Amino acid sequence: MKNMEKERLMIRTAAEKTAQRIVQSRAAKIDTTGEFPRDLVEAFGRQGYLSLLLPESYGGTEGDLTSFCIVIEEIAKVCGSSSLIILAQGLGILPILLGGNSFQKDLYFTEISEKNSLTAFALKEPEGGLEASSINTMAKKQGKDYLINGRKCFITHGSLAKFYTVIAVTQPAYGTEGISAFIVEDGTPGLSFGEREEKVGMRGTVMTDIIFENCRVPQENLLGEEGKGYKIAMDTLNMSRPAIGALAVGIAQGALDYSIHYANERIQFGKPISSFQAIQFMIADMATWVEAARSLVYKAAAQIDAKLEDTEKISAISKIYASETAMKVATDAVQILGGYGYMKDYPVERMMRDAKVTQIYEGANQVQRWVLAQRLLSNKE
Ligand SMILES: Cc1cc2nc3c(=O)[nH]c(=O)nc-3n(C[C@H](O)[C@H](O)[C@H](O)COP(=O)(O)OP(=O)(O)OC[C@H]3O[C@@H](n4cnc5c(N)ncnc54)[C@H](O)[C@@H]3O)c2cc1C
Repeated sequence: MKNMEKERLMIRTAAEKTAQRIVQSRAAKIDTTGEFPRDLVEAFGRQGYLSLLLPESYGGTEGDLTSFCIVIEEIAKVCGSSSLIILAQGLGILPILLGGNSFQKDLYFTEISEKNSLTAFALKEPEGGLEASSINTMAKKQGKDYLINGRKCFITHGSLAKFYTVIAVTQPAYGTEGISAFIVEDGTPGLSFGEREEKVGMRGTVMTDIIFENCRVPQENLLGEEGKGYKIAMDTLNMSRPAIGALAVGIAQGALDYSIHYANERIQFGKPISSFQAIQFMIADMATWVEAARSLVYKAAAQIDAKLEDTEKISAISKIYASETAMKVATDAVQILGGYGYMKDYPVERMMRDAKVTQIYEGANQVQRWVLAQRLLSNKE
């Protein structure tokens, strides 16, 4: 246990250094140009950040969610987009880790660990995605292949990934049991991509639709068994929600740190604005929320790492609380900087835009609250 703690501390120190040395200075430009930071991705690959969740034999941490969250938090303190690249990579790895057989793991994990190839997770569709009945992408068995038809949207790393985990319906009459997960490799005939989406925040990440037109995938690319895809997808999201929480905590901490620095420098009415109680209380509240959010995120990650049963509740709570915190803290940071906070010359307006999506993706917070309330009210707790 002590060794694990020491290892995680080393991971945090290294990620903090990476963030400060190579990411921080790039964050504003990545945001304004919307450039996908290939050089940073290569650096993340060298650091092992693209293979963090892989088994140790492939250079990873054996699926250690806590370590993954630590890296995501540290990078997000300075750049949300760069952190989301690492998170989306983990999101693409998780379904294979959770549902892949040894052949699939060896093939795709070797590809990631040796070539730092990007991966992606494709669940969302124009009509929905999270709810089983709203999945319209079909995978029809034809001989030893599946023919996939349909469209996914808002997929991070769309058009960049070497392979995609795609959730599709194999038996329409079976509900969640009729949904399967497939690995679709880039270059497969019938696979194409929509235009890159223009986003409010996280502007350095690439997001596109994925289009499947008679896309023929060999049956070896089915993850687990037919009918297990919905469970694989939900287990994947359950594991990655604390990581979104970590990204949110990182953004919030970055915004808080900048607010403190600014409040001590900015002189109004002859004194630093940090001497005004109104500003002091804002900063105290921001710090309180960030600390509470961090505790929830690492509690959720620890429970998932310990393979405890029934982690859905803490996973959803950590995501809701941390993302709401990020939005509140980043918005307050803009307020503390006054008019300057609203200008692109300062990082807090970017942080506010980046924070917003943490309340939305991987199941918007209202949906998380609804699921949570259903559990609480059905006396399952
Ligand atoms: C930057 C970004 C990156 C993304 N990356 C990926 C990716 O890599 N892979 C992927 O598969 N998806 C990805 N997504 C999709 C993302 O997960 C969805 O957009 C998100 O889950 C919300 O779904 P939706 O857009 O369909 O909103 P909707 O579900 O249509 O929600 C609209 C509104 O209705 C509310 N609402 C919906 N249902 C309920 C309910 N039952 N009770 C109360 N309120 C409700 C929501 O909270 C929200 O406020 C990404 C999205 C973004 C913005």
